[in-house]
Amino acid sequence: MKNSIIISLVTVIVIIILSNIGIKYYFTDYLIEQNKVDNEEIITYVNTSIENDGIIDNRELSYLKQQAHFKNVEIVLQDIDKEIIFVSSMGMGKGMGMGNSMHKEPFKEDYTYLEKKLTYEGQTIGYLSIGHYKNIITAKEDNDFIYTINILYVISFFIAVLLAIFLSLLLVRRLTRPIIEIKDSTHNISKGNYERVKSINTDTKELNELATSIEELARQLSEQEQLRKRLSNDISHELRSPLAVLRSQIEALMDGVLEPSPERLAKLNDEIVRMTKLINDLNELVIVESEHLRLNTSKVNVENELSTIIEGFIPLMDSKDIKLIGQLEKDIFINGDRDRLKQIFVNLLTNAYKYTNRGGSVKVTLTKNTDEAIIRFIDSGIGIKKEDLTYVFQRFYRGDESRSRKTGGAGIGLSIVKELVKAHEGIITVDSELGKGSIFTIKFKLAT
Ligand code: ADP
Repeated sequence: MKNSIIISLVTVIVIIILSNIGIKYYFTDYLIEQNKVDNEEIITYVNTSIENDGIIDNRELSYLKQQAHFKNVEIVLQDIDKEIIFVSSMGMGKGMGMGNSMHKEPFKEDYTYLEKKLTYEGQTIGYLSIGHYKNIITAKEDNDFIYTINILYVISFFIAVLLAIFLSLLLVRRLTRPIIEIKDSTHNISKGNYERVKSINTDTKELNELATSIEELARQLSEQEQLRKRLSNDISHELRSPLAVLRSQIEALMDGVLEPSPERLAKLNDEIVRMTKLINDLNELVIVESEHLRLNTSKVNVENELSTIIEGFIPLMDSKDIKLIGQLEKDIFINGDRDRLKQIFVNLLTNAYKYTNRGGSVKVTLTKNTDEAIIRFIDSGIGIKKEDLTYVFQRFYRGDESRSRKTGGAGIGLSIVKELVKAHEGIITVDSELGKGSIFTIKFKLAT
C-alpha cells in the first residue's frame, strides 16, 4: 500500500515536471510565432497610418495604446532625432513629427525591442520600437494556463492515490486469501488432520504450485501414517499368537502339567527361531520400504550373478529331487546393487524351492529385448490361485500352503522383492496356474 502511494506520487511528480518542461518548450515556440504576428500587425498599422498623411494622429495613437495593452507589448515612437514622441505605457504625444516629445527614458530593461524605420515619401521620419517582455511567457493568461494544468495534476495525483489504495486493497485481498488457506493447510498437516487439507485454486501460478505441493505432502504423510499404523497392527497380530502359544507351553511346563522333554523344548526353540526370523524380515522390509534405501549401484553382469546363485542352490534342490536349470544369455548388463539383486534372486529361488513338490523342476531364464533384461523364475510347483495373484506381493500375504506353516513363511519375502525391484526401477509380475506352477518375471533396464 505504502509502495503504491509512493509510486503514484513519483509518477505524478515526473508527469508534472515533464509536462511543465514540454509546455514551456512548445509554448515558447508558439509565443515567439505569436509575437512575430503581433509585430507585423503593429508595423503594418503604423506604416499605413503614415502613408495616408505623414503623421499618426491621436485616434491612431490611442488605437496603438489599446493594441499594446491587448498584445502585452510596449510600443515606442521616436522622431528622426530619436526624440520620444509616444510610449504606449505612459501616454501619448501629439503625433509623429510634431516635436512635442517626452524626455523620460521609455525603454525598459527587462524588455527586448525590435526597431523599425518609419518612412514617408522616401524620407525617414522616425522610428517605431516594439518591446516584448524578455521572459516570453509573461501574459497572465499564459501563466494562468500553466497554473491550471498544475492544479489539474495535483487533483489527478489525489485521484491516483485513492485508486492505488483501492486497487492495492483489492490485490492484497486476492493474494492473501490463498496464502491464509495455505497457512491453514500447513497448520492442519502439523496437527495430523490430513483430511482437512483442502485443494486451493488461485490465479497465481506460483501459489497454485505451492498449494499443490502441500496437498501432495499431506497425501504422502497420510499414506505414511496409514502404512505405519497398518504395519504396527500387522506386527502385533503376527507376534501375538506365537507368543501366546509359547507362553501357554512354558506355563504348562512350569506348572508341571507338561514334562520338559527334549522334543518339546526343541519345538519351543523352533518357535523362537521363527519369530526371530520374522522380526529380522520385518526389519528388512521397513528398510526397503523406507525412502532411504541406498543402492550401491554398479554395472552388473546378470548372467554371472545368476549362474553363481543357481550353482549354490543345486544341493538344496537336489535334496528335494528338484531339477534346477539355468538358461542364461551372456553379456547382459544392468545398473544395480549386486547384493540387493542377489537378495531378489535368492528370495525367488527359495520360494520356487518351497512351493515346488518333490521331483518337480525349476528353470531360470535370462534374455533381453532392445532395452530390457528379462529374468524368469519358472517352477512346476503348487501354483497360486487366480484370485490371489494380486495379493502375493502384499506383506503378510500367505497362501494356504504357507499358512499351514509347513514352509515357515511369514508372507514378507515377496514384499521385499517387490520393493527392491522398484528401487532398481524395474518391474516384477507373476503368472501362475494352480497345481501347474508359477512364473515370476522381472524386467530391468539394460545398462547403456
Ligand atoms: P512366504 O514367506 O510365505 O513365502 P512370500 O512373500 O515369499 O512369503 O510369499 C507370499 C505367498 O505367495 C506365499 O505364502 C505363497 O502362498 C505364494 N508364493 C510365493 N512364491 C510362490 C511360488 N513360487 N509358487 C507358489 N506360491 C508362491
